[in-house]
Amino acid sequence: MTHLGRSPTVRGAPNAGAIFVAPVAYTITQPCIGVKDASCVEVCPVDCIHSDDASDQYFIDPDECIDCGACVDPCPVDAIYPEDEVPEEWRSFIQINTDYFKK
Ligand code: SF4
Ligand code: SF4
Repeated sequence: MTHLGRSPTVRGAPNAGAIFVAPVAYTITQPCIGVKDASCVEVCPVDCIHSDDASDQYFIDPDECIDCGACVDPCPVDAIYPEDEVPEEWRSFIQINTDYFKK
């Protein structure tokens, strides 16, 4: 048995030297393009779904999304998925959503 009483592990954020990649809780994908009806925006409790006139879809801010899933059902075109359920052909939208908020 060794040092059970004084583990040196995790205290605060163990971020030294780490490459930070923001997790994306939910992601808006291809079907939103050209629709943009904002049904999801109306139900999001933390107001983390945004767009602008120059963009052809809405985007979810991965740093603000609380992973509640409330936006999924109101979407008329099934464009919103949890990150781990995004269809293969739309995986690029995970990065697209993230990048929108880095502008
Ligand atoms: S999962 Fe919840 S918090 Fe995240 S975008 Fe949808 S409604 Fe907003
Ligand atoms: S509800 Fe669906 S189609 Fe409408 S803005 Fe949101 S993601 Fe786009």
